[in-house]
Amino acid sequence: MSCLFCKIIAKEIPAKTVYEDETVFAFEDIHPQAPVHILIIPKKHLSTALEIENDDHPLIGHMFQVANRIARDKKVADRGFRLVMNCNRESGQTVFHIHLHLLAGRTMHWPPG
Ligand code: AMP
Ligand code: ZN
Repeated sequence: MSCLFCKIIAKEIPAKTVYEDETVFAFEDIHPQAPVHILIIPKKHLSTALEIENDDHPLIGHMFQVANRIARDKKVADRGFRLVMNCNRESGQTVFHIHLHLLAGRTMHWPPG
């Protein structure tokens, strides 16, 4: 197993856990780009969004619900937050285990860089 995020799920590499259940894990990003920057990942290894298949739909929906829950817990839901999933090289994806970035706590810019 060479995947960094699979190692974080297995607790072989430390992370600041924000949420965990049977299928989803969430932790603080090590290089935060906003006052709140949390990564929500499935425990199932999927390298990129392109690997998402029909059977994964409940899991992906659950990731969004976990993001909503964290946004409410962090008191940023009403102010606003951004959910981002990069896919492949030109998007800036660097870790090839899908992850939803939850960014909040400052005004976001559009279009993103
Ligand atoms: P992406 O560029 O979309 O693939 O995002 C990968 C994210 O993982 C970046 O925001 C990194 O800062 C973050 N990251 C990399 N290594 C770790 C780690 N060990 N713990 C927490 N976050 C990490
Ligand atoms: Zn993985």
